[in-house]
Amino acid sequence: MPKKLMAANWKMFKTWEEARQTARELVVAVRNDLPDDREVLLCPPFTALRGVSEMLMQQEGFYLGGQDFYPAEQGAFTGEINPDQLLDAGCSYALVGHSERRHVLGEKDDFLASKVAFGLQKGLKVILCIGETLQERKHGQVQEVLHAQLEHGLKHISTGISAEHLAVAYEPVWAIGTGETAGPPEIQEAHDLVREKLKGILKQGEAIRILYGGSVKPENTASIISLDNVEGVLVGGASLNADKFSQIVLA
Ligand code: PEP
Repeated sequence: MPKKLMAANWKMFKTWEEARQTARELVVAVRNDLPDDREVLLCPPFTALRGVSEMLMQQEGFYLGGQDFYPAEQGAFTGEINPDQLLDAGCSYALVGHSERRHVLGEKDDFLASKVAFGLQKGLKVILCIGETLQERKHGQVQEVLHAQLEHGLKHISTGISAEHLAVAYEPVWAIGTGETAGPPEIQEAHDLVREKLKGILKQGEAIRILYGGSVKPENTASIISLDNVEGVLVGGASLNADKFSQIVLA
């Protein structure tokens, strides 16, 4: 059984010192009780990566991730960061295709597919985020959207990748930062769809972790994490507070 991945996405919140403080509090709250079958991932803003990395050093079960990267070795890409720079800052993971990158910053499936393949090739563990909008759900297009995002997003990856290097986060767009959580039946249905599609695309499909994201809180984590085909959570708002996120990690 793969370990459950309890991931925090701090988005564009926290200064260097605030991020270190939250990481410090979290480590203290969780380290003695972290079950063997769980891992914690923190994705702070780029400016705080190195600082948070120092807080996580030698803490078993804690990992650092980037919220994004640009799929090129180096070059004239003002404002961007590459996988080697993430690895150099202490990251082992990176998110790709978060709904805010797709819908606010306009990133398209083809570009995201290059990121997934490039990140994996450079040695990062990649979490590909997918999810339908409310309108797509209302039009009965959940399966179609999730399948298309998986097919496109994974189209350049080599068949030889190891399952622990790739994860998929199912994050219904209408549940991100809205307080609306998908209910267990909706989450179950979507995760089963994702699992079936992953098995169709990759021979490692059965073993790839599928995380749920969308208004995860301490009160709803246990019921979400216990569902079949849910191997972790990706948490935005509630992960900014060490006390709340520690309750999620240990739920
Ligand atoms: C996210 O940012 O991936 C997310 C799920 O946010 P929130 O938990 O705030 O809905």
